[in-house]
Amino acid sequence: MKNIAVIGSGTMGNGIAHIFAQYGYTVSLVDISEEALKKATATIEKNLGRQVEKGILTEENKKKALANLTTTTFLKEGVCDADLVVEAATENLDLKLKIFKEMDESTKPGTILASNTSSISITKIASVTKSPDQVIGMHFMNPVPVMKLVEVIRGYRTSDAVTSQVMELSRKLEKVPVEVNDYPGFVANRILMPMINEAIYTLYEGVAGVAEIDTVMKLGMAHPMGPLQLADFIGLDVCLSILHVLYNGFGNPKYAPCPLLVNMVQAGHKGVKSGSGFYQYKAGSKELVVADRFKK
Ligand code: NAD
Repeated sequence: MKNIAVIGSGTMGNGIAHIFAQYGYTVSLVDISEEALKKATATIEKNLGRQVEKGILTEENKKKALANLTTTTFLKEGVCDADLVVEAATENLDLKLKIFKEMDESTKPGTILASNTSSISITKIASVTKSPDQVIGMHFMNPVPVMKLVEVIRGYRTSDAVTSQVMELSRKLEKVPVEVNDYPGFVANRILMPMINEAIYTLYEGVAGVAEIDTVMKLGMAHPMGPLQLADFIGLDVCLSILHVLYNGFGNPKYAPCPLLVNMVQAGHKGVKSGSGFYQYKAGSKELVVADRFKK
């Protein structure tokens, strides 16, 4: 595998393009927005620069990585030579189905089509393509250049050969791939989201405050970040939509989202991205200004 296309150049897409370019692959980054592509290229350059400052990368390798990267707003042009496409566009089922249909028609035979989706069924995405055996989940974690895990999700019809190739490729990026089957939430979000939901219920029922809940989990369970702050970082709207996927997918009330989470999302408190969630943040930054918005 040599040529990689990445669809979507937002938070995840730029990180995915970054690591493939860093490890010597030719990367075509595709987005519908010219603005998003410019921002992504600047972010990749800045983050490669940071790796140079930390001694992880040489200046020469940074230049090589940037030379491996091209951008386009035309999907067909971006994917036609790809051996692997990693889709990291907005989390929306209809959008992903449309993109996979288009990719299926525009790629050469044998191209592996991967999705970085956090919660949409790989089997469902694969069902709109002619070769569902070549469709797989490649779930990177944020921030991609730093986080080691890749959750490799086998759809119902994903072939053994495609799974092995994606596992091997992830190792070439010095990531640790973990193979899982395609059921709601896969493994990462099936375990993480109920924990976050339970932390919100604990707050909702007045058992403890935000800072107390996060401190118990940080100091007691050695989590680097408390579940409520993590929810703010992920986005409370994203947490809510993943809980809906679990709730609808299993039909089990244990996944029902806490009413406080529903209210906060409806009120526009979506976490870091909106400036307030369980904590208050400086506009356009991850910096805390009020440690605990729920403090009386
Ligand atoms: P984002 O909103 O930051 O970026 C999405 C990008 O997709 C935008 O730049 C948008 O312009 C582009 N886009 C929309 N429609 C497109 C189209 N038709 N063709 C090409 N580009 C298109 O989103 P994100 O946080 O990077 O998430 C992307 C995917 O990664 C989602 O499926 C999400 O579930 C998954 N994911 C996100 C995280 C995270 O922490 N943010 C972690 C793991 C997985």
